Amino acid sequence: MHAKVIIIGSGPAGHTAALYLSRATLKPVLFEGFLANGFAPGGQLTTTTDVENYPGFPEGIMGPVMMEKFREQSSRFGTEIITETISKVDLSSKPFKLWRDGAEEQTFDTADSLIIATGAAAKRLHLPGEDIYWQKGISACAVCDGAVPIFRNKPLAVIGGGDSAAEEALFLTKYGSHVYVIVRRDKLRASKVMANRLLSNPKVTVIWNTIPIECKGDGKLLNLLITKDTKTGEEKELSINGLFYAIGHVPATELVKNQLELDTDGYIMTKPDTTYTSVEGVFAAGDVKDKKYRQAITSAGSGCMAALECERWLSEHFPE
Ligand SMILES: Cc1cc2nc3c(=O)[nH]c(=O)nc-3n(C[C@H](O)[C@H](O)[C@H](O)COP(=O)(O)OP(=O)(O)OC[C@H]3O[C@@H](n4cnc5c(N)ncnc54)[C@H](O)[C@@H]3O)c2cc1C
Repeated sequence: MHAKVIIIGSGPAGHTAALYLSRATLKPVLFEGFLANGFAPGGQLTTTTDVENYPGFPEGIMGPVMMEKFREQSSRFGTEIITETISKVDLSSKPFKLWRDGAEEQTFDTADSLIIATGAAAKRLHLPGEDIYWQKGISACAVCDGAVPIFRNKPLAVIGGGDSAAEEALFLTKYGSHVYVIVRRDKLRASKVMANRLLSNPKVTVIWNTIPIECKGDGKLLNLLITKDTKTGEEKELSINGLFYAIGHVPATELVKNQLELDTDGYIMTKPDTTYTSVEGVFAAGDVKDKKYRQAITSAGSGCMAALECERWLSEHFPE
């Protein structure tokens, strides 16, 4: 199969790129993945319930339903969606080559241009009880979930000691009655400014030298965290109704490692204010290139940018 443009990834970034490119009659092919990177087609939002901060849905919308709508809109304008995972790419010469997972020995697909929108995954601790209370008190995104009623005026905890943890904890002070920040060591990794803001906030208590070891609840919602002192080994109970992981994300860039320029955390680097990567004709959009905002709307926005930049690039290099 040869396409003018292949999109890898099926979150808000990939589908927004597909929508723009299909409306521009470029007949994009989108590989939505088959449990790629641990996610169902549709990406991270398929793992959540209500999405309340995506404009256009005043009552909120369930994440999986929203992604089904993204998919329908891509299809409506002629995007070819393939439910397979791309396991290997060769970006060293044009056309670019792509291999499908499980069929590497057979044949490969080619494309004049590529949009990488493979997303990212929040790091989790996989504590006992975590699977039961994931999205029922446990989250990895304060901006996404902090405002939901189960956290209002309730004690909350954030795991992590970096800038994101400090930012998430400060954000959560708007909603929770108190925010505990659980830090493994006796100091924060966060910048001085963030650390000072955190430590001087009366609604925040930092619990030093401590790790979480188990999540407990009433079977429906989380209400207790068991922690352990890393120095004494003493175990304690912390009554909380919300637990937020802020221990980092892993961008899905294994596919393009050593072929595209990545930053020290593994995110695809793009030229400032664009989606251009270090290889001409390859564009990156969404969480795979964004460690700052990580929202559905910003991913969709960069998917739109990638499509417009790709369309322009194709018209310059492959005029009809
Ligand atoms: C639990 C949770 C709740 C959230 N809630 C909100 C919210 O309320 N509001 C908000 O704005 N944001 C929210 N977010 C963040 C939001 O989901 C992400 O910012 C957004 O989904 C990123 O979109 P993306 O298109 O970059 O990639 P992703 O959503 O990560 O999707 C990437 C897709 O690409 C596929 N893929 C990966 N590699 C390959 C491959 N090699 N071949 C084929 N396919 C591949 C993956 O399977 C995945 O389906 C939440 C995130 C989580 C985890």
